[in-house]
Amino acid sequence: MTSSSRIFHRQPGAAYPVAVSGDGPWLIDADGRRYLDACGGAAVSCLGHSDAMVRAAIRAQVDDLAYAHSAFFTTRPAEDLADHLITRAAARIPDNRLSRVYLVSGGSEAAEAALKLARQYFLEAGEPTRHRIIARRQSYHGNTLGALAVGGNQWRRAPFEPMLMPATHIAPCYPYRDRRDDETEEAYGQRVADDLDATIRTLGPETVAAFIAEPVVGATGGAVPAVPGYLRRIREICDRHGVLLILDEVMCGMGRTGHLFACAEDGVSPDILMIAKGLGAGYQPIGAMLCSDRIYDTIVTGSGFFQHGHTYLGHVTACAGALAVQRRIEADDLLANVRTQGAALRAALEAAFGDHPHVGDIRGRGLILGLELVADRATKAPFDPAVRLHARVKGEAMARGLMCYPMGGTIDGRQGDHIMLAPPFILGPEHIPEIVDRLAGALDAALEGATG
Ligand code: PMP
Repeated sequence: MTSSSRIFHRQPGAAYPVAVSGDGPWLIDADGRRYLDACGGAAVSCLGHSDAMVRAAIRAQVDDLAYAHSAFFTTRPAEDLADHLITRAAARIPDNRLSRVYLVSGGSEAAEAALKLARQYFLEAGEPTRHRIIARRQSYHGNTLGALAVGGNQWRRAPFEPMLMPATHIAPCYPYRDRRDDETEEAYGQRVADDLDATIRTLGPETVAAFIAEPVVGATGGAVPAVPGYLRRIREICDRHGVLLILDEVMCGMGRTGHLFACAEDGVSPDILMIAKGLGAGYQPIGAMLCSDRIYDTIVTGSGFFQHGHTYLGHVTACAGALAVQRRIEADDLLANVRTQGAALRAALEAAFGDHPHVGDIRGRGLILGLELVADRATKAPFDPAVRLHARVKGEAMARGLMCYPMGGTIDGRQGDHIMLAPPFILGPEHIPEIVDRLAGALDAALEGATG
């Protein structure tokens, strides 16, 4: 589809293929061309594109009832989905605090709800001066104004800066760039976590409501997991100062790391958890915010209700779709496959790109893997942003029938080019060489165009 389209496309005027159908991990366009979806769009499509059980569940729900407003009704699928999430959180997250669920339509809505909930909690808890949010410079929490205000992606923030509420940004956990040679990973993690402690003390703990972070940084960093011990230290610091910990697992949650909740692997429970993408796997637009009884009870025994709400809260068809997605993942033990194929894909990437002169880092967890592209491996110097290398790789990959997620943008004033892979949990060993070979071809062609 070209510039005659009336849609506000991401890149107006670009020639987008017209997607018409799906076949497992493949998307198919109107000309019959097949694209291997190695990034789930943006880490969304964790069951691929044609799951029969999920499609049947959605069809059956629409036949019964497509929508009921949450101010009038609750529904069985919404209740069952909330039960599903909370029983799993209780079973899998060490010292789990999550016991209530607020169902929204996507990740940015989950962020808005989380930020407002944190604020309202402190009002009702008798600590009205707590309103500040601390986040990290390497982060993305969504594109609505509140989510953008706490996010650290400078490129996305820049045009809207005057409209954004104040937020304080601290050091990310980005070992490839920031770990000193004489530091262990653990020591590095403690050092950058302690930036939170210092920042809370500077701002005054009595003014700070929450700290928000992604356990694995996605859209602003190309799959950067926190180093071991980092989040545990963050948890301790938040508790020491009475600050709520919000973890954003919109991208890395719901099994993407090989564990239903990424924070479980870090041994940490947040007070508020945001999830979205993998929850409905793209079959339905849905997200959620989970929170602790302490937060919920304080609000319910206080003013009585969370002062928030959208038209599509707990959308019944979305909930039915998400429930089917989550049941399918469990029935087929797909998280075991995420761990196995994740390790295999990572090994294949390391074999193919480990010595590549322009691949500086290969990282990630489970099936959220990233490559950081550099002009010079020794100095880690990035490419000239004007080259838009990440976008060139995406274009060359699409030309080879491969979807991979490119990212540019600045972190601490540094330009980065990252490629993220987040294939569906149904990935088979046969797909791995196809991904790696096509990516290698795309990278070579993009570099030739960029440098030659
Ligand atoms: N948080 C994170 C970590 C994300 O990756 C995203 C989406 N890329 C969002 C929030 C926003 O989600 P949505 O695009 O569904 O609003």
